[in-house]
Amino acid sequence: MFDLLIRGAHPWPEIGIAEGRIVSLEAGPARAELDAGGLRVLPGVVDAHVHFNEPGRTDWEGWATGSRAAVAGGVTTVCDMPLNSTPPLVTTAAFDAKRAAAEAQSLCDFAFWGGLVPGHLDDLEALAERGVIGFKAFLSGSGIDDFPKADLATLKAGMKSSAALGLPVSVHAEFDQNLPRTGAGVRDFLASRPVASEVAAIAAALELAGETGCALHVVHVSSVEGLERIAEARQRGVDVSAETCPHYLVLTAEDMERLGAPAKCAPPLRDEANRLGLWQALRAGWVDTIGSDHSPSPPEMKQGDDFFQVWGGIAGVQHLLPLLLDAGLEAETCAALTAANPARRFRLPGKGRIEIGSDADLALVDPAASWTITRDSLLARHPVSPYLDRRLRAQVRHTLVRGERVVSDGALTPAKPQGALLRPW
Ligand code: ZN
Repeated sequence: MFDLLIRGAHPWPEIGIAEGRIVSLEAGPARAELDAGGLRVLPGVVDAHVHFNEPGRTDWEGWATGSRAAVAGGVTTVCDMPLNSTPPLVTTAAFDAKRAAAEAQSLCDFAFWGGLVPGHLDDLEALAERGVIGFKAFLSGSGIDDFPKADLATLKAGMKSSAALGLPVSVHAEFDQNLPRTGAGVRDFLASRPVASEVAAIAAALELAGETGCALHVVHVSSVEGLERIAEARQRGVDVSAETCPHYLVLTAEDMERLGAPAKCAPPLRDEANRLGLWQALRAGWVDTIGSDHSPSPPEMKQGDDFFQVWGGIAGVQHLLPLLLDAGLEAETCAALTAANPARRFRLPGKGRIEIGSDADLALVDPAASWTITRDSLLARHPVSPYLDRRLRAQVRHTLVRGERVVSDGALTPAKPQGALLRPW
């Protein structure tokens, strides 16, 4: 007897769920049924790149608000970055504090990145024992004072340790330019973070990964040249994976000028030729994962005349999946890039696939919907989004986390927070 039978969804018209897992892909007796006629079923998104900022910066985002935005968008697992929570996750005490905050409030499952920063190399082993999925390093200033960037010597030492611990290192790959500022506008900001500084940082990280044998994950690659370098290194045998984000696939530098602060991010948005090139690169297999890099701030920090001072971070976890499907990404490729690949790369048990034995983490999407992203529909702590007023076709109708319906008919259910910590297998 199933707890739930989902009927009529494409391409699995019968999905039997018991005790939170997929137990059958054929019909059978069930205590409850969900009619999913006309909907597309996808594995729940494993968003391996979010900043939920709690504890410490809960006024920016938090587990309650971040996770409700996540599940509304079909995201069933998030991997939280070691910043911008305070203290950052560079010690076991910080791990425990974040775990307590997430367990009390998260509607989706979660895993944690540890921080690779100068002065905390000795903490990596204990963090690995606690269950981090890997370590994150910045090659440029992070924008957060308590999370300093890693110089290349620190990165190399951290990679050696990570390789020994069997965990990947993810890098924010940009080098600070230290160019004289030309002004305070969007174009000046764009000029201060050119593709060349991203490519140079990616090349440096690839070289160290090759030397140390460490698995490298380059987060939020924004440029075609960056992906090209990574693809070349993979050919040479470097263990490397590349993430890009929806905003680089659907927005451009022109949008950053038009939309201003809600579209500020780093690396910055690039030109239209690069955006189209990213799609080609993605279809050529150069992209391994797509993460949202969901990184909100209070609206006050998204204001001001100096674009350099405005907080850089896009609140995107709620719209990752609908944006990609709306942009024409095939459902199978989408499932690989947003679920199966990150679950495999970060060794998240039971996640990322629709198959017997997997966790029943599912997103049921109406591929023929027509809807508009309104301010009222934004579920992150602050209703700021570069996608406001955007018309989309694909819409998430139901989300299940380990068989529990957390979104039903497009609305949050009164489900209690039952998100659980995931450790790499
Ligand atoms: Zn980030």
